[in-house]
Amino acid sequence: MLEELTTNAQQIQDQLLCEILGRNAGTEYLRRFLHGQTDKQLFKTNVPIVAYEDLKPYIDRIANGEASSDILLAEPRLKLLLASRRSAVSTRAFKESGFRAILPKLYTSPFEAIVCLDTKQSMYCQLLFGLIQRDEVVMIGSVFASGVLRGFKFLENNWQELCSNIKTGQISDWITDSGCKNAASVILKPNPELADLIENICSCKSWEGIIRKLWPRTKYIGTICTGAMIQYTAELEFYCGGIPLVSGFYACLEGAVGINLELLSKPSDVSYTFLPNSVYYEFVPVKEECVTNSQNLVESVETKSSDEDTEPVELVNVKPGQCYELLVTSSTGLYWYRVGDILMVTAFHNNTPQFRFVVRENVALGVDVERTSEADLLKAVTEAKTLVDPLGFILTGYTAYGDTSSTPGHYVIFWELKAKEGNNGKELDPQVMEECCSRIEESLHFTYRMYRKENIIAALEIRVVKQGTFEALMDYFISRGASLSQYKTPVCIKSKEALEILDSRVIGKFFSPKTPM
Ligand code: AMP
Repeated sequence: MLEELTTNAQQIQDQLLCEILGRNAGTEYLRRFLHGQTDKQLFKTNVPIVAYEDLKPYIDRIANGEASSDILLAEPRLKLLLASRRSAVSTRAFKESGFRAILPKLYTSPFEAIVCLDTKQSMYCQLLFGLIQRDEVVMIGSVFASGVLRGFKFLENNWQELCSNIKTGQISDWITDSGCKNAASVILKPNPELADLIENICSCKSWEGIIRKLWPRTKYIGTICTGAMIQYTAELEFYCGGIPLVSGFYACLEGAVGINLELLSKPSDVSYTFLPNSVYYEFVPVKEECVTNSQNLVESVETKSSDEDTEPVELVNVKPGQCYELLVTSSTGLYWYRVGDILMVTAFHNNTPQFRFVVRENVALGVDVERTSEADLLKAVTEAKTLVDPLGFILTGYTAYGDTSSTPGHYVIFWELKAKEGNNGKELDPQVMEECCSRIEESLHFTYRMYRKENIIAALEIRVVKQGTFEALMDYFISRGASLSQYKTPVCIKSKEALEILDSRVIGKFFSPKTPM
């Protein structure tokens, strides 16, 4: 099937577009541009490239239950899914699909533990059941690498309690979810021998290679390790002790799907072969060639200025070595829609290109799969700095850093503050600074706040740096070739040296004391 799809990519894409337009040309949205016609060329010249904000008024009307069913799609919508809230989304999808029926054959986790909405109880139970059936486990996985790592860290913090449950055959009292409790009553039996064995393994000094010891039949870790997830691979490798990390696919709720045909390639070498029957693709070139570093990671991508160069091209016409922004037209009501991902063509499989994930557009900061843009950060910092104004301080510089050295990761915001005239030597009030941390968190987007609530992201930190730090930072970037006249403080710090400049000048550290609303 794969050979057939990848050989006939152009034909399949044309047919798919023809079907999508044939079905939906009469919708309110497409009528504006196509006047009921379905011609491919007309579609390309008349329908604009859009992002979420452009479609929001239409989506809001659908979400508000407007009676007319053909706003974006000819068929009535059954559900609206919010991208980048994958865990909630997939829980619902699992509940609604036939997932339950195939589950016992595939996973050690019972259905009830997977769909449990309390993430802590869900994680505890899935690890417990995974340990009980340790001899059956051949693959360990979660969609994104950050999730697998979270699981390993959770195990590191909770193995004694897990062992005690296995020894006594009784699940801990704090597991109150009825689904999890019922599943445990079926699976969990007193097994002191197994508990002793696991205790023995876990009480060793170093946890390097622990996964191999705990689950000796594991052949691979199935999880996405590319893109933003690459930052977690070193730590995952530490725990896994040589078990291969396999990034099987690229996928997004907008419908694009790519699969990895070289499952054992290193995360930095992984490419995904796009399936031509999933959505109709177009690609906007962003640069002639991307610059890659010694680890094969793409270092820079710049948008081209000339219109001519940024004409979208079809799936089969992309060029190896070039970076593109992905556009999709789907049977779910998206037409020439910007997914926001930048991809680089590495090769072709038959007539279908293979892409390496390069970067997510407009993401300044992210410690998990959440995406915080420069604009999000600016808005949040602007809100928070109003709290230090009345104390006689002004914010003269800020930058941010996604600290993933501990799990869960957290946002660090560096602030340089200057005393205003009339400050009269007042010191920074720690309580006000904590309030600033909270205000930033409360002003950030929904996904950030949700992830904080679920402890997928730890408390935000403000590090106050002494005066002159941002000048030192500028000197550093200029010494590395940045132009003085065009210098702009980076919104997010990526380089180790720049981070050292900031960290060596810190005069106060403050953390958000509460989870944002
Ligand atoms: P969602 O919108 O929640 O479906 O998340 C999809 C997004 O996750 C994509 O648009 C990418 O930004 C990212 N993503 C998905 N698969 C991969 C992958 N294999 N490598 C890197 N990033 C990925």
